[in-house]
Formats: sequence, C-alpha cells, structure tokens
Amino acid sequence: MVSERIKIKKNVDLDLLTTLGIGGKANYFFLVGTVSDLSKLLKETGPRPYILGNGSNLLIKDGLIKKPVIKLVGKFGQVRKKGNVLEVGSSILLSFLIKYSLKEGLGGLENLAGIPASIGGMLVCGASSFQANIFDYLKEVEVMDFKGKLYKIKKDEINYGYRYSSLSGRIVVGASFSFPGNKSKSKEKIKNIIQKRIALQDFSLPSCGSVFKNPSQAAAGNLIEQVGLKGKRRGGLKISDKHANFIVNLGKGSFQDADYLIQNTKDIVYRKKGIVLEEEIQRWS
Ligand SMILES: Cc1cc2nc3c(=O)[nH]c(=O)nc-3n(C[C@H](O)[C@H](O)[C@H](O)COP(=O)(O)OP(=O)(O)OC[C@H]3O[C@@H](n4cnc5c(N)ncnc54)[C@H](O)[C@@H]3O)c2cc1C
Repeated sequence: MVSERIKIKKNVDLDLLTTLGIGGKANYFFLVGTVSDLSKLLKETGPRPYILGNGSNLLIKDGLIKKPVIKLVGKFGQVRKKGNVLEVGSSILLSFLIKYSLKEGLGGLENLAGIPASIGGMLVCGASSFQANIFDYLKEVEVMDFKGKLYKIKKDEINYGYRYSSLSGRIVVGASFSFPGNKSKSKEKIKNIIQKRIALQDFSLPSCGSVFKNPSQAAAGNLIEQVGLKGKRRGGLKISDKHANFIVNLGKGSFQDADYLIQNTKDIVYRKKGIVLEEEIQRWS
C-alpha cells in the first residue's frame, strides 16, 4: 500500500512540466514529500521510475509515458543554514537558492544565475556556466538508490565534469554546500551574468537550453550555424535564429519534430564537418 501522504495522479501532462513544452502524459505521477515516503514508494513501484526536476533538460516523447514519474516536493524543497553551510533539498530551484544565499550573506553561485533548474537536476547533469560549476562549493550529497536505500556521498567521492556526474543512476535527495561570504559585488555580478545570458541565449521562446554538448573542436552552436542550419524549421519547432544550439518551440512542436531536427543536425554536421555531435538533453520515452 502506497503511503497516504504520497499524492498519486493519473495522466499528467508532462509538456506543462518541461521548459521545452513537449511531452505526453505520465500514466502514474507521484508527488513525494519525505525521504521515508520515497523509500517506501521505491520498494513498491515496479519499473524504475523517472525523477523529474525542473524539466529544463528533457525531451519527452508524445503519447503515454508508462514508467512512473516521481516529483520531489515538501521537505525536498527546504533549506537549512548552519553558519556558512546550507543544507538544501534537491527540488529547490537555483533561482531560489541564489536569492536565499544572498539574503544570508553568502555568495558563490553568481556565475550559474539564470539556469532554470533544480539543485538535484544540476548535480545529476553536471551543470556549469561561465567557468562556474554546481560542484564548486559542494560538501556532500544525500542520495537514495532505486531500492530505497539512503546514503551520503562526499564531494571527493563523486566524478564530475562537463555535463557529466557519477550521481546519475541515483536519486539526489539533498546536498550541503559551504559557501563563501557574499562579496559586496555579488548582486552586480548576477546582473551581469543574466545580461550576458540574455545576450547569448534565446529566452524568447520555450527551449531546453543547449541540445548538444560542445565537442572539443568548436562550440556546437557555431558548427550548426556554419553548416547553414540556423533558423531551420520543422513543424512547430525551429533552430533558434539567435543561438543555433537551441531548438525553440513556436507553439505546437512535437517530439517527432524535435527528433527530426536533432537527427538532421547530427547528420549534416557530420557530413560537412566530420564531427559527431552528442546530445546534452536527456530523453524520456
Ligand atoms: C534556457 C536554458 C538555459 C540553460 N542553460 C544552462 C547552462 O548554462 N548550463 C547548464 O549546465 N545547463 C543549462 N541548461 C540545461 C538545464 O537547466 C540543466 O541541464 C539542469 O541541470 C537540468 O536540471 P532540472 O532540474 O531541470 O532537471 P530535469 O530536466 O528535470 O532532469 C534532467 C535529468 O536529471 C534527472 N534528475 C532531476 N532531478 C533529479 C534528482 N533529484 N535526482 C536524480 N535525478 C534527477 C532527471 O531524471 C533527468 O534525467 C539550460 C536550460 C535552459 C532551458
């Protein structure tokens, strides 16, 4: 019997829960608010579930998603301060954490400002920007395996790099960070980073950020632009006119449109440049 505290919903529209605005319906969608409920649920659900963060790195297929989807809420959204250490629930959004830490006189996350993600999602995806990494001030994470066992992992036990983290394959439930004191210039730095981001990236339409990882030879966006694909349309989607590594949803984009644009881009970049593009986004099917 699933705990009464866990909310179960049927046929939840996942397009509304992703920043790209694409995705079918979750057959079973669980809202789980505590570690003990999560552990119980994992012991009871059959197939390994999907964990939804803020949906900003996801391409979800249309139609029915049969695997259960779990969204962490309640206690997973709490922050506790102990000196300059913040203990953070994994569903906390980066934007909230930045505001909170500034208010508490702590800095360190400035260069990541504007990434529309949860802390759990960032740790699993190895998020970084402008020479800063979500792991920079991490002390340790609390994770649960898919059998419901909870344990802590220290930063030096984690492998991470550009869009990669060895935490993937586990559920991040919380993390503690030891942040430096907030330098008086933090607010100004955040403003500059947001301005830089707006100048470089396309925030005018829904997207899932960069679709491809940057290969060692060049930025993926430059390669896509050089092969003439900037602005290419397919159905309701388009390769952004502003940042060619972004695919933007003009309103009615489908998974098929996205899949076509991604495959076509890979094919053309490989044919014309001899470079294999690897997807940064994660796919759910
Ligand atoms: C406009 C825009 C700009 C972006 N800019 C950047 C950038 O500058 N740098 C960058 O690195 N990324 C960027 N991204 C991509 C994205 O924000 C990151 O990949 C982010 O880490 C995804 O976090 P999320 O909470 O949205 O995760 P989701 O998209 O919800 O999930 C992504 C993956 O993480 C898993 N996951 C999520 N939460 C957990 C958890 N608690 N435990 C275990 N697994 C979990 C999911 O199952 C999924 O596999 C951008 C995206 C957008 C839309």
